[in-house]
Amino acid sequence: MPDKNAYLKAMGIDVWLEREPANIEISNHEQSPLSVESKNDSRPVELNSLEPVPADISAADKTAIPEDKNNITRLDWSELQSMVSTCTACELSEVRQQVIFGEGNRTASLMIIGDMPTEEDDKQGAIFSGEIGALLTAMLKAMGYQRSDVYIANTVKCCTAQKQEPTEEQAERCEPYLLRQISLIQPKLILAFGSFAAHRLLKSKSSMSRLRGQLHYVEGINAPVLVSYHPAYLLQAPNVKRKAWEDLQIAMKELASS
Ligand code: SF4
Repeated sequence: MPDKNAYLKAMGIDVWLEREPANIEISNHEQSPLSVESKNDSRPVELNSLEPVPADISAADKTAIPEDKNNITRLDWSELQSMVSTCTACELSEVRQQVIFGEGNRTASLMIIGDMPTEEDDKQGAIFSGEIGALLTAMLKAMGYQRSDVYIANTVKCCTAQKQEPTEEQAERCEPYLLRQISLIQPKLILAFGSFAAHRLLKSKSSMSRLRGQLHYVEGINAPVLVSYHPAYLLQAPNVKRKAWEDLQIAMKELASS
């Protein structure tokens, strides 16, 4: 596929030898195509190591999100987006410039779920923007997808101050929105990027090494979940890209068989 190779080269990504779709196998010797070098050290660590934001729900309007989560499960896309865009259910509403709802194909087979918007996302009003977004686009291209083919969302819809990890309470307050997005899309596969997203979706605190490499079936989520590394982490740890490429191959195989 010369077009894909040209695209990868233009992105500064090593071109790999393409495999036949029917013969997708995970190989420790395979060259990963995910070799975008980081020029940005603004997100240098795994989110697990970050300090949580002190919870102070009293500062936010707790009544802005319906306590009746069943109400959210009945919303259509328009109603859901409208509710989320004005949400003040946790104190992150005081930090953000704008809510980052998510974007992409609302009937996608593949749904990407990250952790939270970056400050750059918050400024631009776009999800997975900048260098992180460029790597995500390259990862999707390597899988044979355009970014517009998939749906991309975050576990938490508002950015935190100083790249802190959202608190459990903040994540819980935001979770009904993500669950409604999943149920509206009905993807065939969810790719959870990073430990924060993985832990929230799987209700597990296991390490990434334990969670990767297998499909997880979670009550209340109507698609298998595959865990991999967040592109932000891959930019800071390029040696992990080979493992990420292995994960993407599992995803490709699952999507091809479903
Ligand atoms: Fe609402 Fe979620 Fe933003 Fe908190 S993070 S204000 S729950 S949209």
